Amino acid sequence: MRYFPLFADLQGRLVLLVGGGVVAERKARLLREAGADLRVVARESSDYLRHWHVANEFESSHFDGAVLAIAATDDPELNQRVAAAGRERNVLVNVVDVAELSSFIVPAIVDRSPLVIAVSSGGVAPVLARQVRERIELLVDESYGALALLLQTWRKRIKGALSDVGQRRRFYERVVSGPVADAIRARRADVAEQVLHRELAAGVPPATGSVVLVGAGPGDPGLLTLNALRALQQADVILHDQLVSTDVLALARRDAERISVGKAAGGHSVAQGRIHQLMLEHAQAGRRVVRLKGGDPFIFGRGGEELEFLRAHGVPYEVVPGVTAAVACAAYAGIPLTHRDHAQSLRLVTAHCGDSLDTLDWRSLAHDRQTVAYYMGVAQLARIREGLIRHGRDPSTPVAIVENGSRAEQRVTLATLGQLEEIAHAGGIRSPALVIVGEVTALAGELHWFGSAPRLWSALRSVA
Ligand code: SAH
Repeated sequence: MRYFPLFADLQGRLVLLVGGGVVAERKARLLREAGADLRVVARESSDYLRHWHVANEFESSHFDGAVLAIAATDDPELNQRVAAAGRERNVLVNVVDVAELSSFIVPAIVDRSPLVIAVSSGGVAPVLARQVRERIELLVDESYGALALLLQTWRKRIKGALSDVGQRRRFYERVVSGPVADAIRARRADVAEQVLHRELAAGVPPATGSVVLVGAGPGDPGLLTLNALRALQQADVILHDQLVSTDVLALARRDAERISVGKAAGGHSVAQGRIHQLMLEHAQAGRRVVRLKGGDPFIFGRGGEELEFLRAHGVPYEVVPGVTAAVACAAYAGIPLTHRDHAQSLRLVTAHCGDSLDTLDWRSLAHDRQTVAYYMGVAQLARIREGLIRHGRDPSTPVAIVENGSRAEQRVTLATLGQLEEIAHAGGIRSPALVIVGEVTALAGELHWFGSAPRLWSALRSVA
């Protein structure tokens, strides 16, 4: 982060404004709204600005007593002088639209006072910041301001009535997404007050802890479901696997406690029993627990065991499905998992360890015209090749290995089944990676669309 975002209290503080045109006037009006005193220096100033006008020519002594300064003139040399004088006196200066000369930036804002949302691109892409602001404007309608005002006037009373922080938070959450907010949106401030009064008198029901098993998908946060997002934003505690991307975790409620309970993909996680205990302890303490897993919780995610445990201990639970790695990796690599011409069925298989590979029904996995996706298969490439070929799959069957599917570092390697051993020897395939075997994988050569184009193993080899 290049700039530190902050909201400054300028009530009664002096701000130096150099410039007297429309831009300067716009800044002045905003500063006045925030209660600042102004000192205007300009050769010509608008009617509005004249009231604070002290001089035509800028001198560095105009900085005396000022906490901030804004230069909004169309004279680059003058802007520069103001910036230099500010630097010398350690006063923050904004030169309008000139990030290089500015020591602070005025963000684009959505004003729903007392709720104010500020957006900045650090001066790098003001148009983008403005577009983001416009989107937020649509999302956060005018009623938010009224709601924030209402809560401001009730704050003390609510704090007095509900001494427990957690209780208070649950109360506020009900207020901002329940009938009080509805009434405000319908411009019925009186009704809103009545409901608020009633709800506060009724008190908050005791917290009941619960666990939501949430599928975080493969990495791209855009693949979360709306239910997953809601659960993340309401969570008190998040128990997450290492596989869950940081982009997804960033969407969780800021003050939710985050506990990592897993090693990297394929590795052995924190003992499953310990995870069970953590879920139980937090839920019994009345917290909303999100158990966040990569992909889908019920596909090679031990979600089933966790639900059995929760059920045995009487903990209420919900499950939010996620986009599993096979579905996501295929989509982001341009591989249709089924295709009228190439594959009529799809198998999801775990290649977690040597032992579990031995128990697979290799004969049925080796049928052609089907797609087989191997999870946790990076360490088992040679075994996969051997098992399939021994049971009759053609060594020329196309194969794709998708590393870091849907993430910025995604890499897709296209090869044949026969080449898997060689790829294993060459190393360099990193977890998390999914191995997809089947005719459809060859389509990635043409249908890819995300990230860099797939690399062909044979081409790599001929270069080497
Ligand atoms: N529940 C998860 C799977 C957990 S097992 C799901 O539904 O996706 C972990 C394996 O999933 C990894 O070893 C890898 O094979 C696969 N995987 C998960 N995320 C992946 C990603 N972003 N790219 C490639 N493979 C991934």
